[in-house]
Amino acid sequence: MITSAYIHIPFCRRKCNYCTFASFTEINLKNTYINNLCKEIQHRYKGEKLKTLYIGGGTPSLLDISDIKRVLSLFVFDSDYEITCEVNPENLSSAWLQSLFQSGINRISIGAQSFNDKLLKIIGRKHSVKDIFNTVINARNAGFSNISVDLIYGIPNQSVCDVSSSVITACELDLEHISTYGLKIEPGSFFYKNLPKNLPDEDMQADMYLKINEICHKYGYHHYEISNFAKKNFISKHNLNYWNAKEYYGFGCASAGYENLVRYSHLSSIEKYCLNPLNLTDLFVLNTQYLLEEYIFLGLRKAEGISTNEIYKKFNINFDNKYEKILSKYSKYFVKTNDRYSLTENGFLISNCILSEFIN
Ligand code: SF4
Repeated sequence: MITSAYIHIPFCRRKCNYCTFASFTEINLKNTYINNLCKEIQHRYKGEKLKTLYIGGGTPSLLDISDIKRVLSLFVFDSDYEITCEVNPENLSSAWLQSLFQSGINRISIGAQSFNDKLLKIIGRKHSVKDIFNTVINARNAGFSNISVDLIYGIPNQSVCDVSSSVITACELDLEHISTYGLKIEPGSFFYKNLPKNLPDEDMQADMYLKINEICHKYGYHHYEISNFAKKNFISKHNLNYWNAKEYYGFGCASAGYENLVRYSHLSSIEKYCLNPLNLTDLFVLNTQYLLEEYIFLGLRKAEGISTNEIYKKFNINFDNKYEKILSKYSKYFVKTNDRYSLTENGFLISNCILSEFIN
């Protein structure tokens, strides 16, 4: 049974310099989009009790609370639900955050990215450090007891010291969850066409990553996934659903979903989505080999890693024998405890390289 859903809100006031997400500045299409999004949910959602719902973007905090309430009213939730809404700290009023909390959203993820105004400017963010602080204060006052921030490292001109300072600030704000991402310059972004100077190289990004881990550990955060840190009991249940290779709905343009062993996505264009919001594209039926590979490469992203007993039960294979060569090639990056394999911190650092070896 599906118990998770993702909803994409594809609007932003302007594009950040590194952005390759499906986000557009045509905010005038918002009402049409919400109407079609509701239509899609009404047609495809089968009424299961959801444990997690994630409203991401784009900038979901550009929505009116009435839109959010309208979308939420289409779902049934489990008593122990987690509903996350991504917010950008751009002029968010305390009244809006209060209404957001009252609407039933119980977790927010703030796109902070850095606690350094100069670096925020370089990556083209619209907000300032002061805006982040105000958002955290207003969110706490509104009643939110589960707040996450996103931080980016590897920004042009950023030093390891700058990264440390941002992470320490996030930790000292006593937030429940911190996600950190290394900046990637990808086709489609402003930075791709206008390559910035002073980009930290791979070695420096690695130093930044290790520094982040060290600081978060010192402040009592659990490094539960390659890029994610949480206080006790505040692991993102929604993301855990992805890493546990479980099924989920994807609603809205550019969203991806996984239902009945089929992975699918939606077209990225808002206009095309609104022409037929029920149109699913890139349908891909998962066979046993693919399911096994997903179980391994998603599972090894987590600090708890993967269970060889579970792999045997699910796929009838002996993990140690089948992957003997990879396990021995990267032996110093793996920890084995009872029936579980997990990656070390240095293993996380080169996880792309290790995980790709498990894919046929
Ligand atoms: S706020 Fe997020 S989605 Fe919007 S432009 Fe910036 S990076 Fe892209």
